[in-house]
Amino acid sequence: MAYVDPAKNEHSLYKGVWIFAEQRERKLMPVVYELLGEARKMADKLNVEVVAVLIGDKVEHLSQDLINHGADEVLLYENKAIKNYTTEAYSKIISKMIEEKKPEIILLGATHIGRDLAPRIAARTATGLTADCTNLEIDEEDGKLLMTRPAFGGNIMATIVCPNHRPQMSTVRPGVMKKAEEDKSRSGKITKFDYALNEEEIRTKIIEIIKEAKHDVAIEEAEIIVAGGRGLAKKEGFELLERLAKKLGGVVGASRATVDSGWISQAHQVGQTGKTVRPKLYIACGISGAIQHIAGMKDSEYIVAINKNPDAAIFKVADYGIVGDLYDIIPKIIDSIDNI
Ligand code: FAD
Repeated sequence: MAYVDPAKNEHSLYKGVWIFAEQRERKLMPVVYELLGEARKMADKLNVEVVAVLIGDKVEHLSQDLINHGADEVLLYENKAIKNYTTEAYSKIISKMIEEKKPEIILLGATHIGRDLAPRIAARTATGLTADCTNLEIDEEDGKLLMTRPAFGGNIMATIVCPNHRPQMSTVRPGVMKKAEEDKSRSGKITKFDYALNEEEIRTKIIEIIKEAKHDVAIEEAEIIVAGGRGLAKKEGFELLERLAKKLGGVVGASRATVDSGWISQAHQVGQTGKTVRPKLYIACGISGAIQHIAGMKDSEYIVAINKNPDAAIFKVADYGIVGDLYDIIPKIIDSIDNI
């Protein structure tokens, strides 16, 4: 169905850049603003409109915020039966929207919901999907979407195109792209989508939502991160990093090796399978600088690395490097802050 025949110029039937305006408990997820930033840039290049797909129960009030951040149109579907996300209902509704309106590009956040939903939509609409993208560009020559993501365990960055199926679909890694700026003077339209959802067909019923215990840390928003790696050698090493982080008004981050060792919770993990951060200051302590770790912190404003191996890869991305034992160096840094 979604194969487009270049010989018949069927590509031209598909127009517009869509983003999935994921909301939870009637609040937009932060990644939505990042998708809007990307979609706006693409739409301006392709000379088309940005459409935000907003679905849920009593969510219309979020529309203006989407418009203020770059949407030209909000495609709205409200139904009390979809107060909570279910894969079946969401994928049916969005697939129907795509079938009727034919967008050229659709972007979703690579959140838990986006990762679940996007493959189902891609399968229903018989198109391709590039998951977990870290860069998106429009090809200057043919206007196709170039979707870049880490591949082969993060050892290469692969750029993928979807030549003859539409829409071109991608999930985008949260925290990587810049958020769209707010412009309260923007105007746009809200289009209510008409669809008779057959509740009987939805086989999944949400009985209860049990919220995860609130994490004490939001490393994505921190301005200073003191991150620890296997070089700490023991769980208690994080207590030393916690002391330094507190002195600097920051939080503690971690490499996957320490998370896998059970020294600290996954909420602290930075990297390809953890969080992407861009603090003002990132202090990497006993972290070797594996490509999968670098992927999550390379955009930090200043990177300081402490490592006893002068050849450690982390020094290649560091602005300042200290070669030595972190258990000698960090107490000295804490003392010198105390003496300021
Ligand atoms: P190591 O590589 O063991 O490095 C420890 C460092 O500490 C060394 O450089 C050593 O010289 C130094 N050191 C030792 N003792 C001291 C001391 N006393 N003082 C100072 N320095 C000392 N990793 C992530 O971090 N995040 C991810 O999201 C992630 N995702 C991944 C996804 C995939 C698909 C794969 C395959 C891997 C992923 N990894 C990730 C793992 C990654 O490849 C590395 O294995 C990991 O980052 C290594 O962690 P580390 O630097 O703490 O440990």
